[in-house]
Amino acid sequence: MPELFIGGRWIAAVDGRVREIRCPADGTPVATVDEAGPQDAAAAVAAAREAFDRGPWPATPAAERGALLLRVAALIERDKNALARAESLDTGKRLVESEYDMDDIANCFRYFGNLVAAGGTDRIVGTGNPGVDSRVVHVPVGVCALITPWNYPLLQTAWKVAPALGAGNTFVLKPSELTPHTAIILMRLLTEAGLPDGVANLVLGTGPDAGAPLTEDPRVDMVSFTGGLVTGRRIMAAAAATVKKVALELGGKNPNIVFGDADYETAVDYALTAVFLHSGQVCSAGARLLVQDELHDRFVEDLVARARAIPMGGPFAEDARTGPLISAAHRDKVEAYVAAGVAEGAVLRCGGVRPEDPALRDGYYYPPTVLTECTPGMSVVRDESFGPVLTVERFRDEAEAVALANDTVYGLTGAVWTQNAERAERVASLLNAGTVWINDFHPYVPQAEWGGMKQSGVGRELGPTGLAEYQEAKHIWRNTAPRPQRWFE
Ligand code: NAD
Repeated sequence: MPELFIGGRWIAAVDGRVREIRCPADGTPVATVDEAGPQDAAAAVAAAREAFDRGPWPATPAAERGALLLRVAALIERDKNALARAESLDTGKRLVESEYDMDDIANCFRYFGNLVAAGGTDRIVGTGNPGVDSRVVHVPVGVCALITPWNYPLLQTAWKVAPALGAGNTFVLKPSELTPHTAIILMRLLTEAGLPDGVANLVLGTGPDAGAPLTEDPRVDMVSFTGGLVTGRRIMAAAAATVKKVALELGGKNPNIVFGDADYETAVDYALTAVFLHSGQVCSAGARLLVQDELHDRFVEDLVARARAIPMGGPFAEDARTGPLISAAHRDKVEAYVAAGVAEGAVLRCGGVRPEDPALRDGYYYPPTVLTECTPGMSVVRDESFGPVLTVERFRDEAEAVALANDTVYGLTGAVWTQNAERAERVASLLNAGTVWINDFHPYVPQAEWGGMKQSGVGRELGPTGLAEYQEAKHIWRNTAPRPQRWFE
């Protein structure tokens, strides 16, 4: 069956192009899928435009739209095993992590379903004039291009699809060309849940061929993008030509600050998950560890011992705790950052060399890597390597910790570890990041906004703001007793 979904039909790419998807854990072929080009992208936009301008969805009552999202949540739970397996084969991610992702995805649809069904975003405006009925209502933006990355393929998609549909928009989804399968399944589930034809459209393909045309098309009203900083800049520039609404979730180079009075065992433990979860391919990863002088040497010693012992393996290896990187090219990039760090004076304490285990030979594995004696100017500290690479810097006091933490163009997440509650609150308030954790790392809930300050992005996903991104506020003013004004008499 063809894999592009346009106007409610499954179709092949116009020029017949296909792409072979291979599992990054061992290179086994997963499937061959259709690969869209600009003509397919244009057809998908036409279908979404038609469904928005003439279809029933934008005017469907909010309660019904919310109910549809709740049905999608239930279908995701029903098909959780198949979805998780597909996600793991595409990404190489451990199956158990994909299963957690599917729970989060169902929760995301359920959260937005309930939020939308509850209504309540419209409001009466008090004008002080009894002859006026003034209201602000919220309407959908229109046709949305949703462009997503490969690290959490369906999760990042759900953060966009659920609010976009909940607000009454139509969309064209363009997932990463490396990880298309859960997006394909999602289209089937949306249809099964009763979504009208043309509301949800799917094009698979590369950024330049299938993604860029969406960002340039004048019939598209909004682009919501999650991915790298460089791509984000391109998308913002392309969208500027037709002044589209833009939402960007970009990268991070997130500080994890450990003070001398932190709960030691817990801070060491979380420093590992902060950066090595999903082999560091996490936008919120705590890739910059900042440790107070007095704790530094002991902390690093224990951290390195534990990092060395993390078992690597494929998605279905029971004893593996971390998996491969997404591609050979990505592993080359991560490796180059480590080499540059060492050349600039960082000390390699563990990892940094591809594993020799023959069982891992056919996958894109790279071991948990720790670099110490790092300084803010090093490229491995400044740039997002997006791999299992932890840089460690030391600090003397609170002011230096905050200055180092904020010395980045990014502002996605940050964490502070201390048992001093006042210090924790002080530092949390000074960190320039969209999410700050105190004595924790990574948790998020769909009820709370997610997104970046500075060059980590524009706008927010999740929470009420995540729904508002996909709405326009419209002010309706009704003069209840119109009379001639006679201004010009
Ligand atoms: P990427 O920027 O290479 O690609 C993301 C998506 O954009 C893909 O679908 C790609 O095909 C498409 N794309 C590429 N060029 C395009 C263009 N010119 N026009 C339109 N679309 C284009 O990112 P990636 O490597 O897939 O993902 C990793 C990045 O995503 C990291 O930087 C990570 O931090 C970021 N990310 C951020 C968040 C967040 O919530 N802030 C979440 C997950 C990932």
